[in-house]
Amino acid sequence: EVTPEPVTPEEATPAEDGSEGWARSLQMTRIVVIGGVAAGMSAASQAKRRSPESEVIVLERGEHVSYGACGMPYNIEDPERSIDDLVVMSADTFRSKRGIDVRTRHEVLSIDPAGKTLTIWDLADDREYSQPWDRLIIATGARAFRPSIPGLDLAGVFPLRALSDGAAIKEFLELQQPRRAAIVGAGFIGMEMSEALRLRGLDVVILEREDQVLPGFHPAVAEAVAAELDENGVRVRTGVSVRSLERNGAGLKLHTDSGTEVVDLVLVSAGVRPNTALAKAAGVALGRTGAIKVDDHLRTNLADIYAAGDCAEAWNRVRQDNDWVPLGTTANKQGKIAGANAAGADLRFAGILGTAGFKVFELEVGRSGLGPDDLAGIDAVAVVSKQRSKGHGSPGSQTITSVVFAERGSERLLGVQMVGKAPVALRVDVFAAALQAGMTIAEVEELDLAYAPPIAPVYDPILIAATVTRKKLAAGAPTAAAP
Ligand code: FAD
Repeated sequence: EVTPEPVTPEEATPAEDGSEGWARSLQMTRIVVIGGVAAGMSAASQAKRRSPESEVIVLERGEHVSYGACGMPYNIEDPERSIDDLVVMSADTFRSKRGIDVRTRHEVLSIDPAGKTLTIWDLADDREYSQPWDRLIIATGARAFRPSIPGLDLAGVFPLRALSDGAAIKEFLELQQPRRAAIVGAGFIGMEMSEALRLRGLDVVILEREDQVLPGFHPAVAEAVAAELDENGVRVRTGVSVRSLERNGAGLKLHTDSGTEVVDLVLVSAGVRPNTALAKAAGVALGRTGAIKVDDHLRTNLADIYAAGDCAEAWNRVRQDNDWVPLGTTANKQGKIAGANAAGADLRFAGILGTAGFKVFELEVGRSGLGPDDLAGIDAVAVVSKQRSKGHGSPGSQTITSVVFAERGSERLLGVQMVGKAPVALRVDVFAAALQAGMTIAEVEELDLAYAPPIAPVYDPILIAATVTRKKLAAGAPTAAAP
């Protein structure tokens, strides 16, 4: 074991990013990362790149690291594809090519912040050991929420979070040839999976407790999505609570508060929760949202401990507050910054807007900024408008529905949601740039956007949505009802 040579800041060589002193003073520092998916592997890669002399260790309790969970629905829909296609880089490659000590099937049991050690369970060798660290990055992610419904442990009932869940669903589809599926929860994963299971030839019913699909989206968007599901033969039951599940011959019977469903496969996609128990037990502070509280450098309240990804909060630039919007985009970026900072850099995470998009059958859906559930205490309007996706006379033009959220008085853009059988998510990205710049609706209306009939109308749907919103604001549109 080599102890780092002590250096004074004057002796140290400046790092690439100008963070004087750190590059050398961190020689042989031990940077340990807990969790090996988006945030964890981004952190480890960045730490090793910036500080090659440091020992970088990743502890992952699962079998795989660095996989694209977001691709699972698209992989599941294709029986020809192996689920392992989603692994971007194997643990072996990280070890041999990047010099990162990746230990899969190693679960961290506890963190000792004072003694700077971890207690680890090596699942393969069935032994416990202790691991010292100088800098620690917590990237423990989130887990699928498991509602307390009796029967969720029956065979044929699946969450979809880790790669192993995707593999189990794929194997079940292959071996059991189920014909009917129920999806509990109509969030974006439920939507994506309804398409995947329809493409695998199953009858699909979605059961949602709220009175619309996509809770958190404006009803105008939810209605368009519900119509698309209907068109593609997916049955949707909203306002329905699942009470229990029981075996029904080879299948499963779901008892709801308004009838039963008999199916062969159940997917529970009822949201996610941050994995914070380990951090909390060590004295790491959690924020208002229940996820780990971090500052703009992704430092936690404890010295030398960082957090990144789905287990952590992020600064929401529109809300001007910490928020929890667990997404792969944020996990990658936060991981990179936490890894760099653990290796001595001085990087700031600029925050999030909550920009997200997904596809269901032919529809694209996107959102950025605040939505209908976020407007409590804000004098805001929600303006729905419809536009054509292409220029006059262009074949294949589709209707885009936009909902723009804006503050009365300041006329500041607060958020957008869009849906249509056309490029919608990239239009939401334009709104995201406008949100980041703090634009007013009038400023969005002035944007210089591309036009060619097969691509967009001369006034892009973005511009028309902004114009309609400005006019509604001027005409005194009613305040959007806050829940
Ligand atoms: P995770 O991916 O949850 O990884 C955390 C890891 O930490 C896990 O592997 C876990 O085993 C490990 N771990 C936890 N505790 C311990 C411990 N004590 N010891 C050792 N290891 C531990 N996001 C998007 O932006 N766009 C999308 O289109 C999108 N689609 C998605 C589709 C699906 C089906 C799913 C499931 C997610 C999707 N997401 C999407 C979300 C995205 O996948 C997550 O935001 C991202 O995986 C978060 O990465 P993470 O590294 O923070 O956490």
